[in-house]
Amino acid sequence: MAYGSGRRVEGVSPAGSGRRVSGISPVGAARRVSITGAAREGAVGLIFPRRCPVCGDIVRPKGRLICPECVKRLSYVSGATCLKCGKELTDQIGEYCLGCSRHRRTFDRGVALLNYNEVSADSMVQIKYKNKREYLDFYSDEIVRRLGGKLARMKADVLMPVPVHPSRKRARGYNQAEELAKRLSGLMGIPLCTDVLVRTRKTLPQKELTPQERLKNLEQAFGVREEALDTGIRSVLLVDDIYTTGSTMEACARVLKRAGIQRVYFVSVCIGGDR
Ligand SMILES: [Zn+2]
Ligand SMILES: [Zn+2]
Repeated sequence: MAYGSGRRVEGVSPAGSGRRVSGISPVGAARRVSITGAAREGAVGLIFPRRCPVCGDIVRPKGRLICPECVKRLSYVSGATCLKCGKELTDQIGEYCLGCSRHRRTFDRGVALLNYNEVSADSMVQIKYKNKREYLDFYSDEIVRRLGGKLARMKADVLMPVPVHPSRKRARGYNQAEELAKRLSGLMGIPLCTDVLVRTRKTLPQKELTPQERLKNLEQAFGVREEALDTGIRSVLLVDDIYTTGSTMEACARVLKRAGIQRVYFVSVCIGGDR
């Protein structure tokens, strides 16, 4: 499936589509390809109308990725945010959230689009378990539109999705973090890297564990395939759907830094409240 969002399709001009001169320039060729892509997406849009990532109904007006009413139900991260993880701060005195004040953070910094609440949680469940990957078109567009400046300043060399265990990916058919990273990679023009950071084992249920045990458990679940790691990569932007306690990002950051990566950032669609 193309990464393209509705917005990009609208932006494609029909000019030049009929140009068929001999020795077509690479520019013309590229444009022709994108028009073909747009036409195909348009056709797909007619047969399978866009569904709203919040209510699940067909989006009107056509061409949008979310209902104008539903977008108001999303709680965007705003105001003062944690300097480390980007979580909205409940008290405006400190610079860090409770989690980042209490626990060591190996990642350098992160940003998130939405506060994790009932509305965003339900949307993430649809993406993860109900094959509503198309919702990520909206979220990736929003991430780039609202957080593009912050993300650009990170100067990431590659995007790495937080991996799931291969058996889990096979069972589900995809990894939602990778689906998001693919779209962001297309929009931001930063290469996607999926073969370096790997999930080496499934994690056990984490609820009974202390934060330290949880982290240790997680750290052992990730690995870095150093043979696949390009030596030119200094800065990595991790991509995931949800950030809650930060232990997953922390575990990924630790294995990456141990493998010589200098800076590790993250971006997630949702982030849990401060606690
Ligand atoms: Zn809706
Ligand atoms: Zn924080």
